[in-house]
Amino acid sequence: MTRFIFITGGVVSSLGKGLASAALGACLQARGFKVRLRKLDPYLNVDPGTMSPYQHGEVYVTDDGAETDLDLGHYERFTGVASRKSDNITTGRIYSDVIARERRGDYLGATVQVIPHVTNAIKEFVKSDLTDEDFCLCEIGGTVGDIESLPFLEAIRQLANELGRERTMFVHLTLLPYIPTAGELKTKPTQHSVKELLSVGIQPDLLMCRSDREIPEGERKKIALFCNVAPQAVIPALDVDSIYQVPISYHAEGLDEQVCRHFRIESTQPDLSRWTNIVERVRQPEGEVTIAVVGKYISLLDSYKSLAEALTHGGIANNVRVRLNWIDSQIFEREDAVLHLEPCHGILVPGGFGERGASGKIEAVKFARERQVPYFGICFGMQMAVIEACRNLVGLKGANSTEFGPCEHPVVGLMTEWVKGNMLEKRAANGELGGTLRLGAYDCMLKKGSRVADIYGSDMISERHRHRFEVNMDYRPQLEKAGLSFSGLSPDGVLPEIVEIPDHPWFVGVQFHPELKSKPFDPHPLFTSFIKAAVRQSRLV
Ligand code: GLN
Repeated sequence: MTRFIFITGGVVSSLGKGLASAALGACLQARGFKVRLRKLDPYLNVDPGTMSPYQHGEVYVTDDGAETDLDLGHYERFTGVASRKSDNITTGRIYSDVIARERRGDYLGATVQVIPHVTNAIKEFVKSDLTDEDFCLCEIGGTVGDIESLPFLEAIRQLANELGRERTMFVHLTLLPYIPTAGELKTKPTQHSVKELLSVGIQPDLLMCRSDREIPEGERKKIALFCNVAPQAVIPALDVDSIYQVPISYHAEGLDEQVCRHFRIESTQPDLSRWTNIVERVRQPEGEVTIAVVGKYISLLDSYKSLAEALTHGGIANNVRVRLNWIDSQIFEREDAVLHLEPCHGILVPGGFGERGASGKIEAVKFARERQVPYFGICFGMQMAVIEACRNLVGLKGANSTEFGPCEHPVVGLMTEWVKGNMLEKRAANGELGGTLRLGAYDCMLKKGSRVADIYGSDMISERHRHRFEVNMDYRPQLEKAGLSFSGLSPDGVLPEIVEIPDHPWFVGVQFHPELKSKPFDPHPLFTSFIKAAVRQSRLV
């Protein structure tokens, strides 16, 4: 019988609700419970797939091909539980389903309304696709008081009423601002936020109070009194120096214990040693490497959340700190790339869309290839590597991607059909943008004796995709002759998934997104290997 924990946020946004939810999930898991984490997003987009990275940050892709909120990345990295399509819902998705049902006549002539039809659809989603999970943690996006979150709050209120309080719990995350002139942490915004929740019929059971300093006992008691919760259910959520410290700190403040107490379940103390080990390694690295990430959305680093995490994991695996030098590739149109890239021990070109900044990325590839600096190209970064090789090794100056318009040598082009499992997927050049990329997990066959086969220690892998364009296999013979090896292919041999340069210290381009599957306690082999190559490079320069 699954218990539900609903996590809401108050006072301000960006309090780290996703991380707090992930950390609670990790603590409960460390007590031996089976957990699932979900995100309910109140915006009107059907999914974040069509949103600009500047708006929304990274789009996290699941194995089953859903484009989801980046918080699902935190959940998966902290618990190791693979997220699914059924773990993220938006108002847009709920409404489009409700309207589709209305058009089919499913509501049998009823007037379709927010309550009960929309709220019922939300409740169905929350309860769907669960089997033997002990806990399902549902984070509600946004901040209480937002107009758009109201149907979600109403739905979870109803759920608590239907399932009973012994199967549901409300956790509310707030902020205690420190006012220097008064020398005090202020509890009033928290009181107001709880009042706001109460006005929609939700009495929180536990408060997590974000604060940049210790919360005095008196303030804790005051919050408990005014917000109608037990004093021990006011959990200080203090700032910490590493995100891997969050489960440890929240546990020390009694978070998971209070959750168990709420549900009246006996459980042993959690084993958090995997987190203490990671924190120790992060705090005491044996060296440092600098990686240049040559991208486009660097003014909002949330756009590269999983990537930054995966690089850190690669550092953890090699006992080094990974310093990231975020470079906007457009800068190479004005300044010499050498100046920026020379001090770095590895160069990574991440995923991206559109022509802006592409030439700078191609220049970064050229630098890495010629100067024998470790290069890791991810998705767009692989496509740029192939264009660079075509132009500068094969000599086809007109080589480009059709993503930027028609060109003489379309070495990267639109795939109009391909096989997924035993299904044929088809796309048209003028088709819809939302949800139509090559998405989710695909198998990839690795060439025997290649660098990647050695790195993975396997000849068949599965990785997650999110792209519309593919490297054009017509150019494979010329590229192979020039020294590029197609070391990863789809099992039917049609789709190029990995290219590498065997005659280079470390040069790998992958069409998929390995960063989505890396975890602090299970770093992705490609990132581990890339950082290892960067460590070697750092000893040379
Ligand atoms: N824009 C490229 C494509 O659609 C690459 C996408 C990406 O890097 N995720 O194929």
